[in-house]
Amino acid sequence: MHELLGTYRTALPAYASTHFGDEHGGLDSPGAFADFAVRCKELGYPGFKIHGWGGGPIRREVAAVLATRAAVGPDMDLMIDPACEYETFADALKVGRACDEAGYFWYEDPYRDGGASSFAHRKLRQLIRTPLLLGEHVRGLEAHVDQILAEGTDFVRADPDYDGGITGVMKIAHAAEGLGLDVEIHAAGPAQRHCMAAIRNTNYYELALVRPRLDPKSRHYHAYADGYTDDLTSVDAEGRVHVPQGPGLGVVLDWEWIRRVRRGRRCTSRARTRGCRGPAPVAIPARVGFRPGSRGPGCPSSRCPRRCTSRARACSGGLSRARDALVVHAQCQCRGLGQRDGGAQVAGAVAEVAEHAVDLRGPPRDEVAGQ
Ligand SMILES: [Mg+2]
Repeated sequence: MHELLGTYRTALPAYASTHFGDEHGGLDSPGAFADFAVRCKELGYPGFKIHGWGGGPIRREVAAVLATRAAVGPDMDLMIDPACEYETFADALKVGRACDEAGYFWYEDPYRDGGASSFAHRKLRQLIRTPLLLGEHVRGLEAHVDQILAEGTDFVRADPDYDGGITGVMKIAHAAEGLGLDVEIHAAGPAQRHCMAAIRNTNYYELALVRPRLDPKSRHYHAYADGYTDDLTSVDAEGRVHVPQGPGLGVVLDWEWIRRVRRGRRCTSRARTRGCRGPAPVAIPARVGFRPGSRGPGCPSSRCPRRCTSRARACSGGLSRARDALVVHAQCQCRGLGQRDGGAQVAGAVAEVAEHAVDLRGPPRDEVAGQ
């Protein structure tokens, strides 16, 4: 695929993109993010991105920004992605100023406008020096170009799942190139690698999502029968991932896994009325505790579909949180994706979350010493 698109490179610099901050022994403090960043630097990563806590005191987010820079020194690119969780423009500004102080490479989707307001982010850009990365929550070529021309972002986002496939990503990348900007491909996967291989004006592959003590083989879809993976140790000594070679995307699909996931499609069609019937048991606890402002009986939020629609992949933010929240979020993700993206993506999403539910409920299957 990358040859058809026009190969520019086949080794892609990667950044370690973390799970969201948690409260129970994972990335549960500014120091934990700092320590994990050091670990990633030792593995060769040239970049590291914080997904903080979102809810909770903004001073903890600021502390994570500063502690991580202090730990890794000046020669690692750092990013932070609140995933539109900060409550106010003022909170976004406080973290932005910490990014300025710590020399961050980009500041992504700061606060709860949903990542869509070019006016708001143009104002933020006038008050901080750190480049913004917006665009994960707007869809398609025209909306991205509008956001660029309205001066709402510095870096441009594109995703082959969200923005019209590989063709859509390449259109956005070329539009950004024509305006002198870089496009950063969202998330990890073979399609992302092939796109990035054929784009000059891009910097990093998002190796997502990683955290300490995560079984490196447990995070991912098991859709590949040839060993393809996007785990913490997928990078070479220089912190790069490589583009799979061969016809198409260069990967071999595991059809047994895919058939198992397809059962989730039947679940999806009934999701709103009967609840999830995904490939793993998914129960709705009576009480959930996901994030402030996102609670409700049987569903984490009255805004559940909206949250999922605007931040479908970011739903994985729930994965590192309490197990009940995780299970409910599987339901949430199912509902939201069902509204927008149809059964195929829902099946994958539910299966992925269900796998995490199993992982997080028991002891780690294979703790990696020192991670
Ligand atoms: Mg993001």
